[in-house]
Amino acid sequence: MDIAQLKDVFQKHYGAPDAVYSSPGRINLIGEHTDYNGGFVLPGAIDKGITLAIKANGTDKIRVFSVDYNESSEFGMSEADKPAQPWAKYIFGVVREIEKRGGKIKGFDAAFYGDVPLGAGLSSSAALESAFVFALDDIYGLGIDKFELAKIGQATEHNYVGVKCGIMDQFASIFGKKGNLIRLDCRSLEHQYVPFNPAGYKLVLIDSCVKHELVNNPYNRRRESCEAAAAAIRKRHPEVEFLRDASFAMLEEVKSEICEEDYIRAEFVIGEVQRLLDACDALVKDDYVTVGQKMYETHAGLSKLYEVSCEELDFLNDCAKKYSVTGSRIMGGGFGGCTINLVEESKYASFISGAIADYKAKFSIEPKVYDVVISDGARKIE
Ligand code: ADP
Ligand code: MG
Repeated sequence: MDIAQLKDVFQKHYGAPDAVYSSPGRINLIGEHTDYNGGFVLPGAIDKGITLAIKANGTDKIRVFSVDYNESSEFGMSEADKPAQPWAKYIFGVVREIEKRGGKIKGFDAAFYGDVPLGAGLSSSAALESAFVFALDDIYGLGIDKFELAKIGQATEHNYVGVKCGIMDQFASIFGKKGNLIRLDCRSLEHQYVPFNPAGYKLVLIDSCVKHELVNNPYNRRRESCEAAAAAIRKRHPEVEFLRDASFAMLEEVKSEICEEDYIRAEFVIGEVQRLLDACDALVKDDYVTVGQKMYETHAGLSKLYEVSCEELDFLNDCAKKYSVTGSRIMGGGFGGCTINLVEESKYASFISGAIADYKAKFSIEPKVYDVVISDGARKIE
């Protein structure tokens, strides 16, 4: 599907569109499980997203056509009008969250398609929310600031989808900038662009295509460990609000006061906060070898200390080493999903064919491969 075809689809359903908008998915280069520890993340928007054609229709009804599901949805704008189609809830939620903030919008027609793989950890849902909130803000001249646009997408996930996510995905989709990653401080929500121009390298995700069932809510246990370690440190160092504020020396001081599990979890987080900052320093110097080393260190920490890896992801990480990939790590919460890999162009072909063959031989699953290029955030196309 391309924009001309999208406009044809729109034409068939609703007549000529007024405008076309697009908003991307995202990767996170480094900084995992740092968000709820008040630390930084380092996302970037990618060259895959949701593209929509739209036109106000002068009624109180919203009519939307999903090209990828080949399905229409029609719904009103009040709280009782929640649509039946799961994908339409993201659009309904955006409309509701705009209205809750006093934004005045009317009915519209829209058709959209996307090329962010669903549920692979690239945040197709944030791309969908951001595309609609950005388009509606623009066609109705609402003048909502960019940060609030991202918050509307996040609130949609919380209140209309039931996913209690942080703000990183929507933030990256709205604020993304070609040739830059975004260092987002999850405590202050301040952000800073960090150059990302890896000439001679590619970024590629390898999807393990597994999602392990989680028992006993391991994520909650990780959070509790982090809070317990931070609380122990805070007794001696009142300035430590989150583990983000702690050093390895502070952690050593409380070693005998916390359990072994809490200790190793905190060891990972304190290291991860520092690794992200080190990676940012290296990026400013175009030192991608160091960036890659940090990615491998993150993987090792996620696997051995934070214990959120799995056999498949560790195997893919070993594959990356075997084929001389510069950097590789689990992206996302863990227990399945993708690895993100920084690969020299000259090593790319052998890595991809080797990793696919090796993974298939070991697990009888063909992993999926997604090339990504860091690109602009939400925008009007025409
Ligand atoms: P992800 O990690 O990709 O964000 P989610 O489960 O949060 O995974 O969001 C995926 C959901 O978003 C899909 O089930 C669908 O409802 C919606 N969605 C994403 N992309 C599209 C698309 N191209 N067309 C229709 N709906 C989409
Ligand atoms: Mg999502």
